[in-house]
Amino acid sequence: MQRRTFINKSSAAALAIGLAPSIFLQEDYEYSISELMGKEDIELFGKGINLRKEAHDAFLEMKKAAYNDGIDLKIVSSFRDYERQKAIFERKFLTYTEDDGINPLDAIDKIIEYSTIPGTSRHHWGTDIDVIDGYRKVEGDVLVPHKYENEGPFVDFKKWMDENSETYGFYLVYTDEPKRRGFKYEPWHYSYAPLSIPMLEQFRGKNIASLLLREDYYGAENFTMGFLKSYIQNNILDINRDLL
Ligand SMILES: [Zn+2]
Repeated sequence: MQRRTFINKSSAAALAIGLAPSIFLQEDYEYSISELMGKEDIELFGKGINLRKEAHDAFLEMKKAAYNDGIDLKIVSSFRDYERQKAIFERKFLTYTEDDGINPLDAIDKIIEYSTIPGTSRHHWGTDIDVIDGYRKVEGDVLVPHKYENEGPFVDFKKWMDENSETYGFYLVYTDEPKRRGFKYEPWHYSYAPLSIPMLEQFRGKNIASLLLREDYYGAENFTMGFLKSYIQNNILDINRDLL
């Protein structure tokens, strides 16, 4: 009860000086490496939202504003744990290598165009979402870039997010900057910066490559230190600079 009172007071103080509480980076909290790798049960909020408290609250504020402008922000994917990411990686690895006959290293390169190596997904953090406009009826897969451009069904959604999402703390992660390496352009993937910036900072401070080298699942036996280091450089760190 006392803690609750304290939080309410600090939010009120923040509002009093004209700042939204969400813009404060939560830098004082220390995340464990297993938490950053999606290996811990973290507390998540909101049915169909599944984000950490601050990210959840900010998302609801943003959703309300979008709703007033005729857009229904609908989360397709948010928190995903290590085991779930491992299942995705293994399924793709086995499909590419066994069904399609692709060699293991090329299969991994193909996987990491859009999917992460287990333990390195930003979806492990409870701060990141894949989001669309739920009002639009769409045939087939919704997470494809061309549906967010030209005459695509999510063009209005994209325009609204470009103009408004950062006000609520949500930033596009995998931008369409031509020189960016790593994961391809994902106009649907947003991150709640006040939490995810300090999380990434702590994550990159750990010896991630060595940890990943010790993992054991289909495909992981092909990882080398060189591959993992360039993966970290390109896929984890070559993102929207506002999130670094
Ligand atoms: Zn995503």
